[in-house]
Amino acid sequence: MSGIVGHTTYAILTLKEVLRRKLRTGPIAVRHYSAFLAGAYLGSDIQTMPSVTCAANNEEAGYGGIPYSGCPGGSSKPWMLRVDGEDYLPRQIHGLFYGRSHLIFGWTKEDESLRVPWDHLPEYFAASLHDAIDFYGPSERTLAYILGWTVHVVSDSLIKSFQPGLTLKLLDGTYTPRNRPIQDLFSFHEIGIRELGLDWAATLADIAATPVEAAQLHFMRISEPRGELARMFKGGWKPERKKLMMAVLAENRRWARRHFNDELAEMQLSPNAKGKPEANAGLQKTTGLDYEAMIEAARASDLRGQIGKIASEAASIIEAIERRSARLRALSTAPF
Ligand SMILES: [Zn+2]
Repeated sequence: MSGIVGHTTYAILTLKEVLRRKLRTGPIAVRHYSAFLAGAYLGSDIQTMPSVTCAANNEEAGYGGIPYSGCPGGSSKPWMLRVDGEDYLPRQIHGLFYGRSHLIFGWTKEDESLRVPWDHLPEYFAASLHDAIDFYGPSERTLAYILGWTVHVVSDSLIKSFQPGLTLKLLDGTYTPRNRPIQDLFSFHEIGIRELGLDWAATLADIAATPVEAAQLHFMRISEPRGELARMFKGGWKPERKKLMMAVLAENRRWARRHFNDELAEMQLSPNAKGKPEANAGLQKTTGLDYEAMIEAARASDLRGQIGKIASEAASIIEAIERRSARLRALSTAPF
């Protein structure tokens, strides 16, 4: 699914493909791996914040605008982000910023005219990278973050079918509430651990520890219009939202630590009565399957091949960015 587990998986596989194709930006992502992976999640998913405060213990819980019912005693009140004396619900923050970080979907009706069509993505991304070099260079960390963000935009569009290209039919569709846990568990265990040898806890902790990148305000058009991006995409610049956006990005990092731990806990397997690895009861209930049947369904639908397609498509967009950018093509090919 397209939570932290899915997006980290897409990003790592994309980077492998970028390196296989010997693209110039690949070594930058390797040198700043955590920034690259952070961009691939927090670069777009600005709704990473609590959903509620539990009444019984006053603890924050949940994720963004998703309803949460796990509080002790069951009662909770909506969580809000306070900035300059104003309170914002996660869904209001989603409405203000989500389309800006996903470009081709997720816009409110009011902002729909700011949508960037698929075939304009490479120029939008290239302008964002060029401006980062001009405004923040010669540091490479910001470039790695922006590259990661491009992978999020492409992969989220494909898995959610805003852009055609996948033929995934897993249980009841491509990306559904019922099949999302299967995509997560398969990505976590079969691809992450078995295929890539990934230490998930360490990787996610590194992502949560990355700093806010000021360039994110620019590529989301939450700043004074300037640079190549403003010359090419004239509308929708909102510098008056800068302070709120900075507070949102800081909150994303704070809550990411907790959210990633929640996700890690949800992915754990424990032996069932037959001594075989079993997913937690909640995920079994959502999917209607035990772990063995979930992995079988993933294999039968060629989930691995479809995720490979996402990675290949994202690498092709990075290739298209480089094709239109003499500046990126001139980057050093020094190994990492
Ligand atoms: Zn997203």
